[in-house]
Amino acid sequence: MRQSCLLVGKAHAAAALMLKPGITTQQVNDVVEEFILDHGATPSFKNYHGFPYATCISMNEAVVHGFPGKHVLKDGDIISLDIGVYKNGFHGDSAYTYAIGNVDDDIKRLLRVTKESLYIGIDKVRTGNRIGDISNAIQEYTEKKNGYGVVRELVGHGLGRSLHEDPQVPNYGKKGSGPKLKEGMVLAIEPMINMGVKEVSHLDDGWTVLTKDRKPSAHFEHDVCVTKGDPDILSSFTEIEEAEKKNANLTWSYGV
Ligand code: MG
Ligand code: MG
Repeated sequence: MRQSCLLVGKAHAAAALMLKPGITTQQVNDVVEEFILDHGATPSFKNYHGFPYATCISMNEAVVHGFPGKHVLKDGDIISLDIGVYKNGFHGDSAYTYAIGNVDDDIKRLLRVTKESLYIGIDKVRTGNRIGDISNAIQEYTEKKNGYGVVRELVGHGLGRSLHEDPQVPNYGKKGSGPKLKEGMVLAIEPMINMGVKEVSHLDDGWTVLTKDRKPSAHFEHDVCVTKGDPDILSSFTEIEEAEKKNANLTWSYGV
């Protein structure tokens, strides 16, 4: 599983290096798909319940499950890229939101808070805790402390031989509620946080989820194994963050 999860981070980094104004989301998808196939893996999302592409690419007000296509990236856009790979019988699944060029400070703040909330949730991944402890920590930080909207319709999940396994991992909930965390469980934790209202609507392509108020949304996702000690993050943002710093077309510092 760790191999699959690490490969997702490398596929992200391949995309992160090429992101710039003027390219299409289809081009981003194609680079990622080729990278996955070249590394002896298959894209988990392609044909999953009929999803037609290797990657989910969700721009600006799109929350998740966006289609790659003719959209041309421009300065000030944010692009959420969700990638899954299947290798040696196991899936890896990780999402990251990139900022193209000069992004507004309030959007940078949304990215920073969403990414921070992921690690705040991960810190609760300990034997004896419950799913609700993760959910509650993410909700408290994003909704109560920062005034953002936590999407209710979409949640994180268990991960392994299948892309989506029990238990569900909502980004909202009560402390001490839900299934108990047990050593060896792997959870895909993925806050989907809206700058405005928590409500979403759907495009008629049957997949793309948008914010109802059309304000931006951010998405970061790690795969995390429950151990007797500290949470073991199987996926990695290290190569993504290196690529962000290397690529002058990306804003990587969210110091706002
Ligand atoms: Mg994902
Ligand atoms: Mg996921």
